[in-house]
Amino acid sequence: MPRPSNPVKLLASTVRLPDEALEQLIRKLTEELSDRADRRKQSENSSWQEEYRKCGKSNCWCVHEPVGKGHDPYYYRSVWKDGKPTKEYKSKRKKPA
Ligand SMILES: [Zn+2]
Repeated sequence: MPRPSNPVKLLASTVRLPDEALEQLIRKLTEELSDRADRRKQSENSSWQEEYRKCGKSNCWCVHEPVGKGHDPYYYRSVWKDGKPTKEYKSKRKKPA
């Protein structure tokens, strides 16, 4: 069976919803889309943050440090990837521009 190349037509033929339901779906999707756009915008504006890490060695000094303290910081920021916010890391010690 040949597939319609138009994704909208494909979706409409697959879903087989009454017009009102389809309309509602589109409204929801539009809301979701603008929600995503907002979140994407937020993550694009995010600046580099420091993150101190524990190395995991049981005999290291960092074991005794409180949560959030540890070795030299990694720098990370929130970026948008595959439709969700993801942490992007830069190498430690040097703060990225
Ligand atoms: Zn350590």
